[in-house]
Amino acid sequence: MVEKKDKRIKKKIKLPSKSKVKKPKKTEYIETTQRVKKTHIIPCTNCGMEMEVDLSVITVLCGNCTMIKTIKLYGPPKGCEPKKNEGPKKPPGWHFYKEFVDKDGKVYHKGIEQPELFETMDPTVIKPKKKSKHLSIREKEEKQKEIFKEIQKNKRALHKLVKAGKNRGQKCLIKKIQSLTREVKKYIKR
Ligand SMILES: [Zn+2]
Repeated sequence: MVEKKDKRIKKKIKLPSKSKVKKPKKTEYIETTQRVKKTHIIPCTNCGMEMEVDLSVITVLCGNCTMIKTIKLYGPPKGCEPKKNEGPKKPPGWHFYKEFVDKDGKVYHKGIEQPELFETMDPTVIKPKKKSKHLSIREKEEKQKEIFKEIQKNKRALHKLVKAGKNRGQKCLIKKIQSLTREVKKYIKR
């Protein structure tokens, strides 16, 4: 009991020291924030989009309009410029052709220009590349799903036959399921 009394005394002594440091009253704090946040809504001078701004602001240009204006003034930033078309395209590996005639008549022998043969031959016909059989990951997943669905269908049919006790058609279904599982493995492994 004696100790408790001591604690009470300590608390009473500490209080005046805290009160020395003045803390801003809650009411004062709220008043200042309210004064700062006073705004009004005005339209953008160019496109008319309404924006909330400080009371001291009279006219406003929205972000989109400033972007468009800067691009008009200084052009698009580096890296965003559209690519220029660099003349007629040559097929990949044209350096290694024994004889390659460009569309504008220039003749190349293994990548070296032959000015004597300029415009003496027809341009070489470029064969369009065959589409590769390599599937993307998403395409593989789609194929997997399709095959899995078919397997489930066949399995359900087999289950029905087994339940009904019919032997006819079971072997055919089992073979189908086996072949389908083999197909799925191709798409999973790669
Ligand atoms: Zn605007």
